[in-house]
Amino acid sequence: MKIKSAEFVKGVVEGKDFWEKDIPQVIFYGRSNAGKSSSLNAILGRNSLARPSGTPGKTREANFFNINESFYFVDLPGYGYARMSKLDQEKLRELILWFIGETEANKRIHVIVMDAKVGPTDLDKDMLDILNQERQEHVIVLLNKIDKLNQKELSAALKNAEVNLPEFVKLIPFSAEKKKGVDKFWSIVEELI
Ligand code: GDP
Repeated sequence: MKIKSAEFVKGVVEGKDFWEKDIPQVIFYGRSNAGKSSSLNAILGRNSLARPSGTPGKTREANFFNINESFYFVDLPGYGYARMSKLDQEKLRELILWFIGETEANKRIHVIVMDAKVGPTDLDKDMLDILNQERQEHVIVLLNKIDKLNQKELSAALKNAEVNLPEFVKLIPFSAEKKKGVDKFWSIVEELI
């Protein structure tokens, strides 16, 4: 996909939607530090698209970007940030639950970024459960940072992901740093969109 434009549109808080329901959404999730911002930038071929969040987990908004005037990328706040208070974690979960369960959009593709070395965490699995229960939409997992793994570790990471992720997930071995998996990501998204 050739990215002609990628414009920040708006940060949305729970209860306030503004977007065109007919415009498809590609929604990004991930445990804090899994590499969500880096992956967004690699996918869009930008150096810094994702709105800088300063302290990870502090931004409690769904950040909308308009891509090529034809679909949205939605950057949801990273979850599981160790230094986040219980209350903030709860608010973040509420925002995500609201966004997944109660907002309207005719087409959505969900993308969860995971650290290949860490594998799917309980929070990731929780997120997958929520996604599966809601509307059975498409889910892609980017198994990020594979550049950090040798062949043997990569095979183990892939096996672990296969065992721990539900069947409906499309798994892409990925490296934001080395731009690996970007083409595969776009070929899947273009087909789904
Ligand atoms: P976020 O909190 O999920 O948005 O994560 P960031 O994109 O800020 O990345 C967290 C850390 O992981 C940073 O130090 C990145 O440089 C590093 N990182 C992200 N993606 C990769 C990758 O593909 N390979 C490697 N080796 N490091 C990565």
